[in-house]
Amino acid sequence: RFLSVEGGEGVGKTTQIIALAEAIRKAGFEVIITREPGGTPGAETIRQLLLGGSEERWLPRTEALLFAAARSDHVERLIEPALEKGTWVISDRFIDSSRAYQGTGSGLSDTDIMALHNFGSRGLLPDRTLVLRLDPAEAGRRAALRDQGQADRIQSRDPSFHSEVDIAFVSFAENDPRVRLVDASGDATTVTARLLAEIDDLLTR
Ligand code: C5P
Ligand code: MG
Repeated sequence: RFLSVEGGEGVGKTTQIIALAEAIRKAGFEVIITREPGGTPGAETIRQLLLGGSEERWLPRTEALLFAAARSDHVERLIEPALEKGTWVISDRFIDSSRAYQGTGSGLSDTDIMALHNFGSRGLLPDRTLVLRLDPAEAGRRAALRDQGQADRIQSRDPSFHSEVDIAFVSFAENDPRVRLVDASGDATTVTARLLAEIDDLLTR
């Protein structure tokens, strides 16, 4: 099974993914955790191009191509081989981040983002996508605490960008049962329980 976990910065994706993997392992499955952009040496190199450095931001089309290229390497070299062996894969972000950030956020069409994905990753979609949602102010506090003023090249965007991204995730969930919205407020154990409720049917099959 293939799961992706999505959501804005500071919602607790990384922490929750570790807890999810533990629960899946306890249920008797092999599971690997990976992330986007990145997950393979080639894709991590592209991640550096995207998030590192102090140059100005990539233009939207270039950025979308780089994310799609990173994802292609990640899918072909890591995700698909793992799924073929029956291993579960949890990815910290996947195509829906591109639809939200490079699509809605940067003004490219969903059709264009999906065209790149269909070429680069042969349209691979997760079995389920869990979107963690938190009040932007609270998420901002958590992210600031984590980053200690070291925001990445892509991160420092205005608040309206973040609310657009959030609205995009909500609309994906409204239009596709694959995508589930999960309240990320409260303590970590509570949030994990909410996430597990959304993949319950996959775990017991
Ligand atoms: O996963 P994480 O929150 O560390 O994301 C790294 C950065 O890349 C964030 O600033 C995120 O907004 C950005 N990103 C993006 N488009 C994607 C994936 C991530 O702009 N498709
Ligand atoms: Mg994170």
